[in-house]
Amino acid sequence: MGDSLVTVWDSVLSDLRTQIPPTSYETWFSEARAIDYADGALVIGVPDSFKKGGIERRYRETIEGIATSVCQQPVSLEVRVFAEAPGTETLAQAPGADGAFPLNTDYTFDAFVRGENNRLAVAASEATADAVARGLKKPYNPLFVYGSVGLGKTHLLQAIGNAVVASDPTKFVVYTTSERFAIELINAIRNNATAAFREKYRQVDLLLIDDVHFLKGKEATQEELFHTFNELHGSRKQIVLSSDRPPEDLSGLQDRLVSRFKWGLEADIQPPDFETRMAILREKAASRSLVVEDDVLELIAKRISSNVRALEGALVKAIAFAELEGQPLTPRSLEGVLPKEGRRPRLTVLHIKEEVASHYQIPVQELDGASRKKEIAQARQVAIFLARELTELSFPSIGREFGDRDHTTIMHGYSKIKLLLADTPLLSADITELREALESRYSLIR
Ligand code: ADP
Ligand code: MG
Repeated sequence: MGDSLVTVWDSVLSDLRTQIPPTSYETWFSEARAIDYADGALVIGVPDSFKKGGIERRYRETIEGIATSVCQQPVSLEVRVFAEAPGTETLAQAPGADGAFPLNTDYTFDAFVRGENNRLAVAASEATADAVARGLKKPYNPLFVYGSVGLGKTHLLQAIGNAVVASDPTKFVVYTTSERFAIELINAIRNNATAAFREKYRQVDLLLIDDVHFLKGKEATQEELFHTFNELHGSRKQIVLSSDRPPEDLSGLQDRLVSRFKWGLEADIQPPDFETRMAILREKAASRSLVVEDDVLELIAKRISSNVRALEGALVKAIAFAELEGQPLTPRSLEGVLPKEGRRPRLTVLHIKEEVASHYQIPVQELDGASRKKEIAQARQVAIFLARELTELSFPSIGREFGDRDHTTIMHGYSKIKLLLADTPLLSADITELREALESRYSLIR
């Protein structure tokens, strides 16, 4: 592999994708761009200092580790805000960059493999894109796409956006996530710019909002989205939403919002069957101009069944492995490289504590201890919050798990985080990330 800037950064990104939860990837890296690579120094650019801080704090080691193995020499990472990086200012000003994500042009309908598992969702998405592009009456408004993680929701939403922009570049398309929408709203409130915020969202022809299940508990954002929804729907503008569950299962969202989510069409995406997994692997190999034998693809498709992102990750990993070993890719050489999709262990409070402690880089015992130092107290409250949200335990039992604390202390910690969440974007991003990391590794009883 040549150590050009682009190959290094691409390899880092494709590895990261397989290592961190999708929302984290999207939050932190969807707008990151490679700027320079020379003599073991990798420079990347991001649009704001919030991202810069987040990437440096959480991902520096991981990125440097991946880059080091890709380049086979020690690599250090530098993160800049676009404006500081000469020649890249325009990226930050590119359309849609103010608060919404630019569309990923790889996510097209052409690159999306159809199967029994996603037939309705794809057909509805195409019909929707066509209607928006040609200014026709909308067949479904909103279109609500749901399915579990890694099954192609983001890909489909962005494919709708890409198709519309491709056939009519004058259409104003905004793709964002519910978390990003929340952060943008909070910033607008803080900067007295809510009028501009509303104005922007009410001008769009097509509003794509990804992962609306994360609106849970965000009252102000739900309120704002409710009004945006009404305005857009009233002026026959298209809204497309995605979620990890159908609208009726969205607990913690206002009823009036959920009822609007059901006004149009609900289309689910299920895990792909074996044939579809094979077709997806062929498509992914072809899009990277790789030739991989069918027996190798079959082994991967057999081993990984419930998540397309993991399927793609396994293919990339297998190829990288074969390259490193200088060996041809065969089913035999793959044994051992591929993860085994076993049953996930059940989530316990200890898992939560370990995850939180490593996230905030503090010793686990501190979570049970009495320290009132700010970063420890906050990490403890986050762990308590997650224990309450992700397990069935009562406040008194959680108290026992956290150094025998009284249940009133636990309730206080829980409500404090809940309140803070509404207007602390960094905390809310932390919690989402922790929750996704835990949910992807453990099974929850809920
Ligand atoms: P979700 O948003 O549902 O978590 P994504 O849209 O991010 O999932 O999909 C995860 C990865 O799997 C992406 O790289 C996407 O391109 C790929 N993918 C998912 N479904 C398909 C499909 N049917 N055909 C091709 N690629 C797919
Ligand atoms: Mg997604």
